[in-house]
Amino acid sequence: MTFCPADEAFARRLRDSVPEDVFRPVEARYLEEPRGLFQGQCGVLAAPRSTEEVSTLMRAAHEARVPVVPYGGGTGLVGGQIATDGPPPLIISLERMQAIRNLYPAENVMIVEAGAILADIQTAAENAGRLFPLSLASEGSARIGGNLSTNAGGTAVLRYGNTRDLCLGLEAVLPDGRIWNGLSRLRKNNLGYDLKDLLIGAEGTLGIITAASLKLFPQPAGIGTALLSVPSPADALDLLSLARDHLGDGVSAFELIDGQGMHFLAEVLPDLRLPYAEIPTWCVLIELGLAKGLDPTEALETLFGAAFEAGLVSDGLIAQSEAQRTEFWNVREQIPEANRRVGAVSSHDISIPISRIPEFLERGNAIVARIGEFRLNAFGHLGDGNLHYNVFPAKGRSKADYSNCRDVVKQAVYDLVHEMDGSVSAEHGVGRLKTADLERYGDPVGVEVMRAIKAALDPIGIMNPGAVLRSL
Ligand SMILES: Cc1cc2nc3c(=O)[nH]c(=O)nc-3n(C[C@H](O)[C@H](O)[C@H](O)COP(=O)(O)OP(=O)(O)OC[C@H]3O[C@@H](n4cnc5c(N)ncnc54)[C@H](O)[C@@H]3O)c2cc1C
Repeated sequence: MTFCPADEAFARRLRDSVPEDVFRPVEARYLEEPRGLFQGQCGVLAAPRSTEEVSTLMRAAHEARVPVVPYGGGTGLVGGQIATDGPPPLIISLERMQAIRNLYPAENVMIVEAGAILADIQTAAENAGRLFPLSLASEGSARIGGNLSTNAGGTAVLRYGNTRDLCLGLEAVLPDGRIWNGLSRLRKNNLGYDLKDLLIGAEGTLGIITAASLKLFPQPAGIGTALLSVPSPADALDLLSLARDHLGDGVSAFELIDGQGMHFLAEVLPDLRLPYAEIPTWCVLIELGLAKGLDPTEALETLFGAAFEAGLVSDGLIAQSEAQRTEFWNVREQIPEANRRVGAVSSHDISIPISRIPEFLERGNAIVARIGEFRLNAFGHLGDGNLHYNVFPAKGRSKADYSNCRDVVKQAVYDLVHEMDGSVSAEHGVGRLKTADLERYGDPVGVEVMRAIKAALDPIGIMNPGAVLRSL
């Protein structure tokens, strides 16, 4: 496809149809992403205030064949929000569309604009006595349109599902500027194909999400959090089964933490207080959210007793205050920052069928050890089978020493994931980082259908070109 740049002539045309202050200076933050893997470019940056303005901008871009990149909070980790090549695009940032349009507590539904920051949505739900359970370390910056477009996961997927599971309907602007109103509040709606499920996880390649209808939940009456040392990942999985036998859906988070991750924290973030005097080999952060009448501390103590007897845990800490709970979560949530500072040779956001995770770790570690000397940090949302399996330089060496084997490590890990019926993109998406991996590991018929859907909705191909599907 041949595109035109979002140049001065295009900007002049746009100025005739939307107010002047829709345009913003292109600050560096729109062209960078959290891990510094991609450097972007931009012709015109627009921050519209309404769905109609988004539609006007899209219509103009469609007529002029100008590529468009939708932009949320810029926290995506696979470069979907960063146009690296091709003619400089029109970036449409949703940052001014932050309104909570409506809240229906009796229906457990909230309608929000796509630029609403995830943490603000959580607070609005809480103020209405409800819970919006999506929770990620980036929730202070990520916007719901970005969460939906990446089908974000996070820490509560075990109980509440991915962002897709939390959405009842969408409003979106299609690549030709038409507005699709699918803002349903219904939990049953089988009137034809489910278009929202096409746009969710499409990473801005099929249209721009402008608003969403979200599911809310009752707030748990009591929250309990514990850090439990486990001898191995297999024991962690048995502990998860035991916890669910005891507490059913009361288990809302179950995070695996590798002792290596804690050693990294001690090494590069020494001000962070670690709750252990001696760092365990593995531990699990477990969180309960229980209904009225159930005491979470008692429930955790009973669980710990049963797990200890079964040899599944060797030690444990149960949070006795909100401050201690925050301290436990800080350990988990600062691990990505510690990883960033140590500098990974290769990072992998992967999913494995849950019961095969111990086997994956054993085989993966052996494969990586055959390639060279590394340190491994495998952590993540064990409860839903999502691991961040990250490979680091041996102590005293830097990632530059490994530049010649980075691709070998990545492919060896991905080949094993694929062989074990896993996914090489669990919660971060494809973006621009994994387009070749989608072709290599995705089902060929599935990829063909994706291209057909893209061609049907965006025949000129202006929506985020090069993201998800490699430009042919
Ligand atoms: C510290 C940290 C922790 C993280 N933890 C997690 C985690 O636990 N789980 C997880 O899943 N992710 C995690 N992420 C990744 C990231 O936060 C999520 O992918 C998030 O959903 C992206 O939202 P955003 O608003 O920042 O989107 P952006 O980064 O702005 O965009 C992401 C993609 O969505 C598209 N897009 C954005 N808005 C729209 C819209 N309105 N319509 C159409 N397309 C749009 C963009 O074009 C791009 O392709 C983490 C990131 C960081 C930095």
